[in-house]
Amino acid sequence: MTISQNLGFPRIGERRELKKATEAYWKGDLDYAGLEATGAELRRANWAKQQAAGIDLIPSNDFSFYDQVLGLSCLIGNVPERFGWNGGDMNIDVAFDMARGTDTAIACEMTKWFDTNYHYIVPEFTRDTAFALVGTKIFDEFEEAKAQGIITKPVIVGPGTYLTLGKVTDGSDLNKFDLADELIKVYVQIAERLAAQGAEWLQIDEPIFSLDLDDVQREVIRKAYDALAGVRGIKIMVANYFGALADNRELFTSLPVAALHIDGVRAREEIEAVATRLSDDKQLSVGIVDGRNIWKTDLTRAIDTLQPVLGELGSERLIVAPSCSLLHCPVTLRSERKLDDEFLNWLAFAEEKLDEIVFLARAMDNDLDKEMLAANGAAMADRANSARIHDSAVKSRVSGVSEADYKRFSAYPERATKQQAKLDLPAFPTTTIGSFPQTAEVRKQRAAHKRGDLTDAQYDAFLKKQIAEAVQMQEAMGFDMLVHGEFERNDMVEYFGEKLAGYAFTKFGWVQSYGSRYVKPPIIFGDVSRPEPMTVKWSQYAQSLTDKPMKGMLTGPVTMVQWAFVRDDQPRSETVKQVALAIRDEVCDLEAAGLAAIQVDEAAFREGLPLRRSDWAEYLDWASASFRLTAGGVADDTQVHTHMCYSEFNDIIEAIAAMDADCISIETSRSQMELLDAFVKFQYPNEIGPGVYDIHSPRVPAKAEMIALLEKATEVLPPERIWVNPDCGLKTRGWAEVRPALEHMVDAARELRAKA
Ligand code: GLN
Ligand code: ZN
Repeated sequence: MTISQNLGFPRIGERRELKKATEAYWKGDLDYAGLEATGAELRRANWAKQQAAGIDLIPSNDFSFYDQVLGLSCLIGNVPERFGWNGGDMNIDVAFDMARGTDTAIACEMTKWFDTNYHYIVPEFTRDTAFALVGTKIFDEFEEAKAQGIITKPVIVGPGTYLTLGKVTDGSDLNKFDLADELIKVYVQIAERLAAQGAEWLQIDEPIFSLDLDDVQREVIRKAYDALAGVRGIKIMVANYFGALADNRELFTSLPVAALHIDGVRAREEIEAVATRLSDDKQLSVGIVDGRNIWKTDLTRAIDTLQPVLGELGSERLIVAPSCSLLHCPVTLRSERKLDDEFLNWLAFAEEKLDEIVFLARAMDNDLDKEMLAANGAAMADRANSARIHDSAVKSRVSGVSEADYKRFSAYPERATKQQAKLDLPAFPTTTIGSFPQTAEVRKQRAAHKRGDLTDAQYDAFLKKQIAEAVQMQEAMGFDMLVHGEFERNDMVEYFGEKLAGYAFTKFGWVQSYGSRYVKPPIIFGDVSRPEPMTVKWSQYAQSLTDKPMKGMLTGPVTMVQWAFVRDDQPRSETVKQVALAIRDEVCDLEAAGLAAIQVDEAAFREGLPLRRSDWAEYLDWASASFRLTAGGVADDTQVHTHMCYSEFNDIIEAIAAMDADCISIETSRSQMELLDAFVKFQYPNEIGPGVYDIHSPRVPAKAEMIALLEKATEVLPPERIWVNPDCGLKTRGWAEVRPALEHMVDAARELRAKA
């Protein structure tokens, strides 16, 4: 019999119960028993759902109050010293302290889980790091499910992945992979104990198989699974997901374990090669239902893909699975009311994906649910042919894009001269990144407008007042280039997505981003176009209030796509090109409306980098081209800005230069301008605004600090190409800190000018 399995289920609950409970617990409004009761209920409901769907191998320990990597750190007692944990029993407060920080200990770093929008808590290693099995969560949850009548398959992040994702924090020359032997011992204990509890399977996630691995990492992997092979009475399944095995395939298939899981969505072309290479003693789990997207699986195509694998392995050795944990999908379509029936019929969230998995496993055993197959075929055909998806005007516009569309008229030096003639900016011109504080009042008015309690006219008047105040403030402070403040925006992607054709929004499509923060990514379902201007009204109004240049403010095509669920029926690059053309229309309209400068933010530019280096060049090529396409329609004397708000620029500096923005603003203040290095080394040819004000903290920086930072910048960059601005937008800050900080910043620029 072909087995069906799941690798992980969303833990947040259908109605975001997890968020409500954890936040109430943090506030002190819910006690531990209450929090634990919510957790237990979520686990119970999730197991019951999977059981009812007919999933054979149901995961446990996929639940977490915060993050599964953090959960592992707690299980094995890897708690940084600053949290004052006594080394005894583990409890949830230790985890929350690590994730959120305490009065005396700063939180552990958090970063993106591979190429998803999920963030994990980064494990810390020092010379004193020791591992011991101090937690019991994985064992407790196994018992909990057992009491519910389900023998689950506990899930844990693997040792290779854990060490790879962690960082050495004591500044020592410790090689974190030297910790492998100690770590592996704990994994062996975990497996032994689960075996004693009666677990049949243990799923160990090693998505680092989708990365470029070096010899040290390979050695750790080899050692780990050799050791685990010695544990009797439990079958180990190693799971790779998010990408192809590529040159790690040999190592992967040779692991001495009972089963292997591969990502058959991201690496469909690899399935057969893995299947044929597998020794007789191994089972293969093929992740054929997309865990990273929300579309229905094309079941006919999936059957066609699985059939040869079945032929190769036989039904006893084939396992049908989602490509990765369903953590990255919204929970269920059942309560979704915002989308119409036709649209809903194209989608499958986590719960609906369970049915697909079970359908496919049964189909392998010739137990074909013909009704479901027919309905699925009809949905596929409907989506493939729907006029809502295919817009011939968009398609012909994309195919008509020419080389010239990707270019400004003149090269940067000539543009710079013309822009200076038009803008007449002083040395070290001052500006901000776009947003001003989204105060409670702003959010309240937006919500009221959304509810219908505020008319369009009332809401407009409110926003205009906000803009007028912001303009007045900037003029009074002496800013050289102004912004309108983005008060009309809920979010830099959602705002535009709601105005573009081809985007849809759900009501309950939440996905965990980190801890109790969830996002509701838009769905790009069809050809994208811009029916009408999206921001012109606000920017034009703002410009009408001042003689100073106003900067129009847009989100770039890569970011617009990166933070959405994307179409699976065309390459991502094609979707990005469509979005680029839509934003280009807005850029041109802003110019026509009299905006002399336009900023196109690409916050997610680096995030889009593929997991393997060999795929980077292709991505960077179309990503930077999409920016040029967005900006290529304006005259030389219109100044195009971009903004990126993260750290690692070294790998992408060439592509950033290829974007050919007249000016880029970046985050640099927290690193004391170190992040400029990449620009300096590369001799970045255009203008740069190195952030001088850390907007992540409520602290108001002193003028002298900002001058010091700017002086550092002038040592390495041509002063005439330096702008003065904060690290990022100010929407998360309050006016009380923003006002003095900006005053100090403008003063710092003045002083620098005077010195020059
Ligand atoms: N213009 C946006 C803002 O100021 C940019 C935000 C971002 O890059 N994350 O909020
Ligand atoms: Zn930013």
